[in-house]
Amino acid sequence: MNSQFQSAIVPSRAPPAATAAPAGPFLLAPLPYPEDALEPVISARTLQLHHGKHHRGYVDTLNKLVADTPFAAMSLEQVVLATAGQPKHADVFHNAAQAWNHGFYWQSMKPKADAAPPQKLESWIIASFGSVKALKEELAAAATSEFGSGWIWLVQDGDRLRVLKTDNAGNPLTMALRPLLTIDVWEHAYYLDVQNRRAEYVSGILGSLLDWNFASGNLQHPRI
Ligand code: FE
Repeated sequence: MNSQFQSAIVPSRAPPAATAAPAGPFLLAPLPYPEDALEPVISARTLQLHHGKHHRGYVDTLNKLVADTPFAAMSLEQVVLATAGQPKHADVFHNAAQAWNHGFYWQSMKPKADAAPPQKLESWIIASFGSVKALKEELAAAATSEFGSGWIWLVQDGDRLRVLKTDNAGNPLTMALRPLLTIDVWEHAYYLDVQNRRAEYVSGILGSLLDWNFASGNLQHPRI
């Protein structure tokens, strides 16, 4: 495990600085692979900043916002669902959803990913989109047409799959949809590597990094 991220989950014996973020209740999980594992599509520098600064920032801010509130006793998913669509809790929702979305995004990719989905997921994809190629084309089109910052999702909607776009910190759980995988299309996910060429970043993920086994494991009811 990368020592930089291991340190994030090992309690420090040193007294916290006055400005230190609360130690919890929500924790930044380490990346599930080394920082350079997704190169050349996503550079180690981008992963360092994206996970170590952006994702960490959402977790740290969330911990400050939920201190001494009932949200501190909830799971991250429960906080997302409890605050969605409530203007008075918008700050908590944005940071909780971004923390959840990023944790899901890291797991949606893996180095040297299998080119094809496992048979169970493939049958769902063929039933919903016609082919894996058609699904990838729909994901790419959604990514390039999302205006501004957001997320692209493959979701389970009952007995079929759908491609979904959400703006900002949006999350399919709040729409009673089951996320299978996601792609972060905020500029911070790719700007260092390909500047404004979002399509190139998304094409790289679709080409070699999607963790189909993770997506398949998120299906709720196996298609017979
Ligand atoms: Fe991000």
